[in-house]
Amino acid sequence: MGVNSLRNTIFRSIFLISGTLLVVFSIFVSVLIYKSGIDSAFAIIRQRNFAMRNYMLWYFMPLKNTVEVLSEHSDIKKGTKITTSEKQGILEFYRIVKKIIPNINYVYSGYEDKSLFINDYTPPAGFNPTERPWYIKALESHPYVSDGIPYQEIKDKSWLVSLGKTITDNNGKIIGVLAVDASLQHLAEQIRVSDSSLKTSYSYVINRNNIVILHHENRFLNHNLSEVIFPMPDFKEKEGSFHYSTIDGVSKIAYYHRIDELGWILITVVNKNEILLPIIFKIILMLSVVLSAAVILGIITSNTLIKNVVAPLVELESYLIDSTKKEKEIQYPDNEIGRLARAIQSITDAELYKKNQQLMDMNAQLEVLSITDPLTGLYNRRKILQEIEDEKLRAERYVCNVSILIFDIDHFKNINDMYGHGEGDLILKELGELIRSSIRATDVFARWGGEEFMLLLPETDLTSAVAIAEKLRVAVERHIFSNGKNITISIGVSTFIKGCSVDDFIREADDMLYRAKETGRNKVQYIKKRESS
Ligand code: GH3
Ligand code: MG
Ligand code: MG
Repeated sequence: MGVNSLRNTIFRSIFLISGTLLVVFSIFVSVLIYKSGIDSAFAIIRQRNFAMRNYMLWYFMPLKNTVEVLSEHSDIKKGTKITTSEKQGILEFYRIVKKIIPNINYVYSGYEDKSLFINDYTPPAGFNPTERPWYIKALESHPYVSDGIPYQEIKDKSWLVSLGKTITDNNGKIIGVLAVDASLQHLAEQIRVSDSSLKTSYSYVINRNNIVILHHENRFLNHNLSEVIFPMPDFKEKEGSFHYSTIDGVSKIAYYHRIDELGWILITVVNKNEILLPIIFKIILMLSVVLSAAVILGIITSNTLIKNVVAPLVELESYLIDSTKKEKEIQYPDNEIGRLARAIQSITDAELYKKNQQLMDMNAQLEVLSITDPLTGLYNRRKILQEIEDEKLRAERYVCNVSILIFDIDHFKNINDMYGHGEGDLILKELGELIRSSIRATDVFARWGGEEFMLLLPETDLTSAVAIAEKLRVAVERHIFSNGKNITISIGVSTFIKGCSVDDFIREADDMLYRAKETGRNKVQYIKKRESS
């Protein structure tokens, strides 16, 4: 569980750190991308605005200068009260000017007496120049050249832009207006310029009063700009950038430049969407690249950490908990954690081996203790009973003989009484050793209880058992114990008969011992008639 939470901690920490870095980095880079995108868009429209301004000056300055010069010409200042040849001269003059300056559509002059001097144009019946927009505008602009003013030609309805200036007589009285016009259609196409890089980009022109005087969409001509865009800038600086929305709901970014020579303001715009969409696309692309990189890096980092830190701990933990894991060799990484795990494992292995050995030793000791009589070091009653059970099973299966002897020291009470319990114990021990040294390795000898002993004789029939008993009885009788005493023993013998119980088998030997005691002691007793059966 602890290791699981370590793994989770690693995952959480790495994803928290990389997540935070990712957010900070993404915000930073997004802002950069946004700013540079907007800046480069402004740079482009600014450049276009400049180019267009130069084009405008090139296009209109000759027109303005023409109006300035012609309106001050002495022949023209004479007005309409001139001879036919004088009028022809003026018209010829107009024709020459128009030829020299190709941007001029028409050169003409209108007069207070409603007459019009113009080449190659027949005005409609009832034509009154003083009611025409260019005439009215020139009067308003007196004594300066009027700003370009767009108007529709009466006959073919084509859009024109004209510059006009009042003509005064020698007394300074206004007698008419001299004007030149240029085709708006042609200009509008010029200022529309948009190319593949910024498709929605175009330019238009307003005059000092914010009236749109040049626009490729005729519907905007002669409208006040403040009626169609929001918010309306004040154009105080000579040039600058601004943002606005049109009444159609289109957001634009724009750059303007005042053309003071003509009294105009040239505005170049581009739809915000066209700029923002690639920026957003770039940001999304950058975010997905960064996000994927962060996820991949996060996974690699956490996997490395887990492999080097968590995995060895998990292996070690399961090694320590699950004993079945001990058989296989664990590959720990070669780092601090791996070395620590190896050290812990080897300590555990050594400790485990030691404990195992101790346990095995203790088990062996317990095993010995559980079957040993503490005083004599012989087998105890429990052990010999077990051996009798085993021999009985063997005898039943393979039809072989097995006999037992039970013997008891005669008048042992007296020895205890005379020499003390300690001396009695020594005699019990010595007797045990004496008997043990006199029997076969396959015989099982045990202290049966008190001063009674039992000898199990496998592969021994009654006759042999009795002989052995007799031999032992004599050996004891003849043995002089270390304290100088002699003792005698009485022995009961029995041989196992198929079908009888261990209890019966033992009881018979016990009965025979009892009979030996009854009949004078220091003797061997057994049931003779059984031998024959
Ligand atoms: P018998 O010939 O009838 O067997 O006479 P006995 O005196 O030996 O009588 P019995 O077998 O009934 O008495 C056993 C005595 O053995 C009683 C007890 O004081 C003594 N004894 C039993 N176990 C021990 C022992 O571990 N150490 C000593 N010193 N004496 C024991
Ligand atoms: Mg006894
Ligand atoms: Mg006795």
